[in-house]
This record gives sequence, structure tokens and C-alpha cells, in this order.
Amino acid sequence: MSERLGVRNPRTGQIDYWITPPTASELADLCARLRQGQPGWWRLGLAQRIQVMQRWKEIVLEHRDELIAALSTDTGRLRESVIEVDSVPLMIDWWSRVAPEVLSTGQEQLTSISFIRMRREFVPYPLVGVISPWNVPLALSLIDTIPALLAGCAVVVKPSEVTPRFIRPLTHTIELVPELRQVLQFVEGGGETGAALIEYIDLVCFTGGVKTGRQVAEAAARRFIPAFLELGGKDPAVVLASADIELATSAILWGATSNAGQNCLAIERIYVAESIFDRFVEQLVDKAQRVRLAYPSFEDGELGPIIAERQAAIIQEHLQDAVQKGAMVHCGGTIEHLGGGLWCRPTVLTHVNHSMKVMTEETFGPLMPVMPFATVEEAIHLANDTIYGLSAAVFAGSEDEARAVAESLDAGSISINDAALTAVVREAEKNSFKASGLGGSRMGPSAIKRFVRQKALLIKKEPISDPWWFDAIKIGSQSSAAGLQHLVTS
Ligand code: NAD
Repeated sequence: MSERLGVRNPRTGQIDYWITPPTASELADLCARLRQGQPGWWRLGLAQRIQVMQRWKEIVLEHRDELIAALSTDTGRLRESVIEVDSVPLMIDWWSRVAPEVLSTGQEQLTSISFIRMRREFVPYPLVGVISPWNVPLALSLIDTIPALLAGCAVVVKPSEVTPRFIRPLTHTIELVPELRQVLQFVEGGGETGAALIEYIDLVCFTGGVKTGRQVAEAAARRFIPAFLELGGKDPAVVLASADIELATSAILWGATSNAGQNCLAIERIYVAESIFDRFVEQLVDKAQRVRLAYPSFEDGELGPIIAERQAAIIQEHLQDAVQKGAMVHCGGTIEHLGGGLWCRPTVLTHVNHSMKVMTEETFGPLMPVMPFATVEEAIHLANDTIYGLSAAVFAGSEDEARAVAESLDAGSISINDAALTAVVREAEKNSFKASGLGGSRMGPSAIKRFVRQKALLIKKEPISDPWWFDAIKIGSQSSAAGLQHLVTS
């Protein structure tokens, strides 16, 4: 660690920013300081923590423009950067509303043993580590951080080295809130820093690829700490013969190409009923050709560049593999080099099958391979023929028909007559299936419970010498049978 890392600008291809990862001892010291600050943060109580977070929210709003500027340089796209920055106050508000109810310890309660009452407490993990990816850099660095802070944890965040420019303006906002800076720190660095961090934390929330996720899970298991993993996907869309083609093509185009397809829950495979296949493809191609690149300026179009250079190589590889194996390209189809950046127009492919990488491996680009199916059973089989299980979409003329398919899909969230709704519906709790992740839901109110341990206080209310072992250890005691009888009948 500690060697300077250059950061590539996705619009120019130039290395124009540098980060210096912390040394091992700097990282250890930083984590130790956060750990020291955490008990005071927890003792503040939830109501006070909410007040602090609300103050931070106001400061983030005051620095909105700096954050958007840094993030759009990080990613080369503007609209999504604005949405990301504006999602921060929304996340803080949503959790400020939801946390008090979910973390309420309630009253003392009866138990099945008449003379024992119970009371519950939630004890936060002292130091949570968040390791996040480059595709939605700000929002994914905060999605777990905000509930963890409200739960009473201290948090150290290690965003991706590919998109780190937002870290300094965000850190500036944190510095302006004295209570928060004791318990929240961002560190710059690459994979080595992420791996080193796991040695100092009590729980890890990791968002990234399956391969790295496995390494994180193994490191966490060695340390015996919980790991919550949100990993890659290869989301299918299933379009039944009864579907509204106009609606399906628009929703799928959005689901597949927003953020230039660089979304874990992007639609990456499309299965369409044979009877409507030609009309579907024609409409999808027509609409795809109307999407413009946001080049040369941010405002010129809808689609930003491919953010990570290594991702452009993967997209290119999937395209070449598909074409070599017989796929037909209807539009798009290449990585374009414009102004030093790497761009890919919405690409529709047909004559595809599951021998191709584009149908089986995560592409993370705006590719839409479309494959016909003869029966609903075949569509379900194809959609489930994957190592992934993040989310999916089903389009049908009736909700019942769509639900019947949705129930058979091995994925944690299914959008019906729309695509990628998981990204916008905060309330919906879901798990990632198969290799797409591990651990409790990140979405929905219960997500905050990932950051606490439940402690039960079991309180004896009556001064009786049961259960039976109290009797048994009394000097001169006869039999414990009476005590045992009391226990089982009470
Ligand atoms: P990545 O796995 O390469 O890196 C993710 C993070 O892990 C980065 O911060 C990186 O520096 C760090 N890292 C790398 N090696 C590490 C190690 N050995 N130990 C600890 N940390 C390490 O992923 P990426 O390329 O940045 O992101 C793209 C991937 O993220 C895609 O697969 C995408 O599907 C996935 N993703 C998933 C979700 C979700 O919610 N399921 C959301 C967004 C992105």
C-alpha cells in the first residue's frame, strides 16, 4: 500500500488524478480512532444520531454542485451523477423515518415461563467496513453506511480506485459535522487496501464482482466476522406472447442501457415468445438507434462512456465471441474510441444461444441479446440457466400470467411489466440468489438489523427457588421432582 495510484478520466482516457492509499499503520490507526469514537456515538441514542445525520444532509445539499462535478468526472456521465447525489438526502430521510420503529426495543415481555420476563437490546457492531464498486460510486458507498451509522456503528468506507474523485468533497462535508467525523471515514485505495481493511473491522458490506466477493467472504470467514455480499448479475427479461410490445421494448431498453448498462441489475438477456419475436426486435432496434451518446458534451445525449477500461475489454470480448459463434448485430456492436474515451452504443443481437459469453457471463455494457422461445417452460429454463440470481423482469398481458412465470424464476427480485425496479423501490426486501450474493437483505427496513446483534435480558420476577437445579444444589435437598413439575406446568 501507500504507492500513488493514477486514475483514468473516462471521457479523455488521460490519467489526471492520483490517490495515495494509507500505509498499513495509517489504516490501523484510523480504524482504532473510529473504534474509540463508536461507544460515544452509540450512547448518543438514535434520536440524536438522526439529528446529526440530518445536519450532515443539509451540508451535503450545500455541497451538491462540488459532489456532482467530482462524480461526473469520475464516471463521465452527468444525469446519473445528479440522481446519485440527490439520492443521498433521500436515503438519510428514509432511514431517519424507518430506523426508530425497526430498532425499537419495546416493553418488557412475557415468556413461556411464568416467572421470567424478557427485554431485548440491540448492540451495534463497533466498526463496519464498506467496500464499494465503480459503477454507482457515491450511492453504493453510502447505501449500507447510512443505516450502519444510524444503528450506532462506526463505519470505514473503501470506494473503488476507478472512481475515487468524489471522496475528497464528501470527506469535506463529513469534516464539517464534528460528531460524524469521529465515526465515519473514507479511505482511498485499491484492492490491497480493501483486503487489508478486513483485518480491522467487525463486519463487512461488500459490493462488487463475484470473484472478489469470494475472496472477501474467505477473509471474513478467517476473521469470523459477518460478510454481506452484493455481487454481479446476468438479469433476464422474459417477454410472453401476450405482452404489450411497446411497453416491453421501452422498459427493456431502459433496463439494459441506463448508465451504459453498467448496473448489476441491468437486463443482459432477453427471451421473447416466437410469435412476437420479429416485431419485438424491430421495435427494440428502432428505439435503440434513437439513444444518443453524451458526446462531445455531457448534454449531447443520454449514454455515457464505459467507465472502466477493463470493462470495455470485456464488452468487446463478449461481442467478438458472439459474432464468431453466429450472432447477428442489428445496431451498435463495437467499442468506439472518441476523444480518448471508450463508448458503446446500444447493441441489439439476435441468433444468440447459451454457448456464447454474452448469454452466460456478466457483460456490464449496453448489449441486448434477444433469443426466441417456443414455450413458457423453455423461457423459464433459459432464464434460470445461469450461475447468477440477482433480479429479472417478466412482461405479460395479465398480472396472473406474469406472476406464474415470476414464481419460477431463481432470482431475488422480479419486476413485472417493467425493468430494474429494485433500484428504485427502497422498501422491497430481497435476497440475492445463487452467486449474486450472500446475507440478509440490503433493501427494506430489516436491512438495518444487519448492523446489530440482538441481546436478550432474561429477568426472573419471582423469588422462587425453581427450576429444579436450584433445589438440587440446596444442602440437604430431597428431590428436584417438584421443581421440575413447576417448570413444565408453568
Ligand atoms: P470489484 O470486485 O473489482 O471491486 C469492488 C471493490 O472491491 C473495489 O473497491 C475494489 O478496490 C475492492 N477490492 C478488490 N479486490 C479486493 C480484495 N481482495 N479484498 C477486498 N476488496 C477488494 O468490482 P467492480 O469491478 O468495482 O464492480 C463491478 C461489479 O460490481 C459487477 O460485477 C457488478 O455486478 C457488481 N455490483 C453489484 C451490485 C449489487 O448490488 N449486487 C451493485 C453494483 C455493482
